[in-house]
Amino acid sequence: MISDNITTELERLRHTILERAETSIGTPVNLAADHSQIISLLGNVFLNNVGDPFVERANGLVSHEFEREVLRFFGKHYALDEADLWGYFTSGSTEGNLYGLWLARERFPDAVLYYSVDSHYSIPKNARILGLEAVEIPSSPRGEIDYEALDHAVQARTRYPVIVNLNCGTTMKGAIDDLARIESILDKHRINDFHIHVDAALFGGYLPFIDDALEINFNRPIASLAISGYKFIGSPVPCGFVLARRTLSAQLTQEAEYIQSPDTTVSGSRSGHTPLFLWHRIRSLGEEGLAQEARDCLSLAEWCQEQLEAHGYPCFRNGRSNIVVLRKPNPELVNRWRLLSQGEWSHIICMQHVTKEKLKEFLRELFQEETEKGSFLPRGQCQELLS
Ligand SMILES: *Cc1c(COP(=O)(O)O)cnc(C)c1O
Repeated sequence: MISDNITTELERLRHTILERAETSIGTPVNLAADHSQIISLLGNVFLNNVGDPFVERANGLVSHEFEREVLRFFGKHYALDEADLWGYFTSGSTEGNLYGLWLARERFPDAVLYYSVDSHYSIPKNARILGLEAVEIPSSPRGEIDYEALDHAVQARTRYPVIVNLNCGTTMKGAIDDLARIESILDKHRINDFHIHVDAALFGGYLPFIDDALEINFNRPIASLAISGYKFIGSPVPCGFVLARRTLSAQLTQEAEYIQSPDTTVSGSRSGHTPLFLWHRIRSLGEEGLAQEARDCLSLAEWCQEQLEAHGYPCFRNGRSNIVVLRKPNPELVNRWRLLSQGEWSHIICMQHVTKEKLKEFLRELFQEETEKGSFLPRGQCQELLS
């Protein structure tokens, strides 16, 4: 029977994916969240959140109320005043970054974008899409933007407005660029026209819950901020959201009569389900539940780092980061444990589905391999590798 084939093929896919997820310790995705309530109640219901989520539309097949609730929840945590809050659900932080840079370019058409070499690849890509002049700045070995190099680059172009992509958790090394130092560079060169966009794809989902004095927030002169929803918060489909000051985003408004809503987003038709997945996580866990998950991820990362250090295996971890960066193991291990790698480094990301048992299994394989090869670097060389 045809329908038997359909079921078999889908079951095979399900089995393959779940099996791969078992050894997934290197990707920034939360594979532990339970979304079954949304899927069973609304998985088969059509929703399309096309247009501005803050503009009420009668009779729409939309979940805008839920979308706004998630945006307000994070807006509050990032000190974005409700009267000045705007944002929408994106396909992920690539689109969130595109929106932020688009807004920046509309404000300052002749601006120059500065971003560190450790920025996500979507930043130079979006710069190309927007035709933005972009200057890549080197980073420290731990992945933070090189402030002196940024200072020189801005100094060489003081006639132009400045766009800065500020990383809050770089993809590979989990570094956070220092907002205060970037502000002081702009100040020093008397740059009044600037737009700071924050790429907070992974860390943005958990920092507000563990950090009492969140450094990056809208009380400071940031203009837009992108977060990926499926990373820390968790969703069964890729998604994200962008927050922006309403006073600025209003500049992008174009009326689209056809959808009875101002056309303020990069995308046209948008998922009405993705806000529901995040809404459900926020509602069912509350701030305290999210904070607990974040603390668990960070203490597991700390434990993992300690194990590697105790064995003299080259590694490091930035502050408030659930990313443990380690010297790239052999390709078989990298492949089996799905460790994303770049140059001489790989990383483990302690997400909610990563357990101590799983990491012990990985570490056993790693240490066994290294002992057999006799290739351990003596203790302390990790620091040297980094300097
Ligand atoms: C994952 C990530 C992105 C891109 O997010 P997508 O959801 O894949 O579009 C952007 N920036 C950083 C720092 C990331 O880690």
